Amino acid sequence: MDAPSWLVLKFGGTSVATPERWRTIATVAQRYVADGYRPVLVCSALSGISDQLENLVQEAAAGASPDATLAAVRAQHAALADGVGVSPDGLDALWATLEARVETIAAQGAATPADRAAVLGMGELLSTRLGEAILAAHDVPATWIDARQHLRAADAPHLPPARRYGSATCSVYPDPVTQQHLAQTTDAVCITQGFIASNALGETVLLGRGGSDTSAAYFAALLDAERLEIWTDVPGLFTTNPHDVPAARLLKQLSYDEAQELATMGGSILHPRCLAPVRQYDIPLHVRSTNAPAIDGTVISPDVPDTGPQVKALSAKTGITAIRMDTLGMWQEVGFLADVFAVFKHHGLSVDLVATSEANVTVTLDPMANALDPEVIDRLVHDLGAYCTARVVRGCGVVSLVGRHIRALLHELGPALEVFDEQQIYMVSQAASDLNFSFVVDEEQAPRLVHKLHDILFAARTPDATFGPTWSELVADEAPAPAAEAWWHARRDDLLALAADATPTYVYDEATLRARAADLQSLAAVDRVFYAIKANPHPAVLRTLADAGLSFECVSPGEVERVQTALPDHPARGILFQPNFAAPDEYRRAFARGVRVTLDNVQPLAEHPALFAGQEIFARIDPGAGRGHHRHVRTAGAQSKFGMVPDDLSALRRAADAAGTRITGLHVHVGSGITEPSTWAELARFLASLADAFPHVETLNVGGGLGVPRAPGAPGLDLAALDEQLTAFKREHPHLALWMEPGRFLVAEAGVLLARVTQTKTKGPVHYVGLDAGMHTLLRPALYGSYHPIVNLSRLDAPAAHTVQVVGPICESGDVLGRSRRLPDTAPGDVLLISTVGAYGASMSLPYNLRPAAREALLTP
Ligand code: ASP
Ligand code: MG
Repeated sequence: MDAPSWLVLKFGGTSVATPERWRTIATVAQRYVADGYRPVLVCSALSGISDQLENLVQEAAAGASPDATLAAVRAQHAALADGVGVSPDGLDALWATLEARVETIAAQGAATPADRAAVLGMGELLSTRLGEAILAAHDVPATWIDARQHLRAADAPHLPPARRYGSATCSVYPDPVTQQHLAQTTDAVCITQGFIASNALGETVLLGRGGSDTSAAYFAALLDAERLEIWTDVPGLFTTNPHDVPAARLLKQLSYDEAQELATMGGSILHPRCLAPVRQYDIPLHVRSTNAPAIDGTVISPDVPDTGPQVKALSAKTGITAIRMDTLGMWQEVGFLADVFAVFKHHGLSVDLVATSEANVTVTLDPMANALDPEVIDRLVHDLGAYCTARVVRGCGVVSLVGRHIRALLHELGPALEVFDEQQIYMVSQAASDLNFSFVVDEEQAPRLVHKLHDILFAARTPDATFGPTWSELVADEAPAPAAEAWWHARRDDLLALAADATPTYVYDEATLRARAADLQSLAAVDRVFYAIKANPHPAVLRTLADAGLSFECVSPGEVERVQTALPDHPARGILFQPNFAAPDEYRRAFARGVRVTLDNVQPLAEHPALFAGQEIFARIDPGAGRGHHRHVRTAGAQSKFGMVPDDLSALRRAADAAGTRITGLHVHVGSGITEPSTWAELARFLASLADAFPHVETLNVGGGLGVPRAPGAPGLDLAALDEQLTAFKREHPHLALWMEPGRFLVAEAGVLLARVTQTKTKGPVHYVGLDAGMHTLLRPALYGSYHPIVNLSRLDAPAAHTVQVVGPICESGDVLGRSRRLPDTAPGDVLLISTVGAYGASMSLPYNLRPAAREALLTP
């Protein structure tokens, strides 16, 4: 008998979470069996389960009741079983094992790394037992294999237990024993677990979070498989993360080293450890999607031709910690690097990027490879003190250009690198392999930089052997239009009627404004919501939001006047004036109008005490310096012109006392587009920790920045979770009122821009659609590289036919509203609709080129 042709197929968490995806898995497996292959399915836990199990470990160890989490884990499996119509009884033994382990942890009052590994490993055991039953129900009988019998962790006694149990590695080679064992199974298909292996004691160990890819690669090597296929929720590797940049192109083929670089530098689709085993045995790796099984995806193989110097992708990693080590002189010193790196080794920390100079060595620590416990970092810094002055820079991002022979491209990259102009760059690193060029910047800058660089490097590309279609093309072709539920579908006739009167026109939907306001008003923990009117100060918008019960935040006297003119009856105390670098007279006028004032610098108060005498004010704090515990802390706080640093607070107190001014509130605002729901509770805790020094403080304003989904399919903000976190804070601090001041969140989705097509043009491979709206109407795409969906409202049901650049009439080559967009046949006179432009659309428009401003209209229900 010939040796079987093995195919290893890995299915990730989202791919095993729904009945529909399992139908795809069954179909794929069946097809490969029919083609004469022996498929081995390596599965992750159902999506979200590993995180839940992690919570379970923590709850049990902390003496909290794990019951709710256990019930949620059970319910998710029961729901999947129910959706397919199979019995979940096959999981009973596993539930018993899980509960017993959780009880042990609770009894110990602590979880050892072995306990954690045993609990987390249950996710994959559960998903594969259930998968076995689901496949049987689809007439694809599969034999369940225990991965721990075949994957043995390499001995690593020098590593700390958390690493040995939590992030183990195996050394694998084509193994006749495994091959024989699997060849003898009765079914053509085998199903086994990702993520888990066993150690010499027979205990369960984990291969690191996201480690199922690595399991699959190990199995491919053990079986000397013909191919490894990693099935995930995006159809391949892209030029950058397509959820952030929909113009990202599919990378059709990559060499192992390019793929390795991409995985390592933050393209979160493949686990960095999964490439070595397949590369060692020349096994091709395909990345594909259960969401879109018809797309070929990315092929990583030894046969990829060298295309010469080329940037193939951009990546961004955030949550990076950099350590800067200054010394009085490395010059002619012997062994300095050896000494400091020994300290990192001693603390079990793996170093990622390194840059050295005469007096400074800077390194980054990758959180993926390190458990970055603040105490470990403190001890590291302490021990480094013997050799140098070490400083920790948290909240860094790494933006990397990945590709071949990057050094040979540097002269061409010049213009692209201008995007780093004015950025605080902590370090630049060029890989010795010549496969990447990386910049360490503030993490909140990383997305903007990636957007701009992607535009410059890839927007004009056309498909070839390496670069495939863009994500928007693939999404438009594969999935129903993601904007299908947007409000404007139902109002198409009204919108076309408005466009018939005049274009360009911004239209704001009153019902959507009210819905977003209601979302925020429903946050139980938030006492008052101030709408930041800079996002959209249109009088009708202000009236709608005032009617919904909101107050207003203004940053200039003009904005205060706008609110008072549009809403003559609105109480002055419902207006918050929060300027930055304002002249003293602006404060005088604000107090005269009776509005609330936030001060973000001590100087005006210290130098003009009479102005502030007898007033109550808020103080805006910049969390960017001084308090190292905070996630948003950057030493670059100093680079931001807003707020005062905690070190200024004693001066503030003295100035306030001298002027007879009461500080009744503290304020902080850290950025925009934030989707991490814990942010505001963390900020509240930060402010509360400062409030003790101010006896009159009764209110904390935790700012805005609530994220709106950036592009179709991108994740939004979980408001319920946000409220839960703030509620927990309020339980600890019942005497403090909480305020928020969102802008974009309230109005972005309510606004669309209607523009008329003026001309179309084709130059070589590039098609242009020109509009009577441009960067003067909507500046965000040119300024930030922001993405706004665009449809042809006149031909809404026509199929997409072309990939076009949507441009305006302004004499600037940056006057592009949308790149690589899919539109139907489009002709002059058609009305295009640009959505999610209710915030910073009209309010940021410019008189440049002396073209008139767009009209604005409110659409009532
Ligand atoms: N379930 C594991 C995790 O979420 C492993 C994986 O899915 O790759 O980390
Ligand atoms: Mg993964």
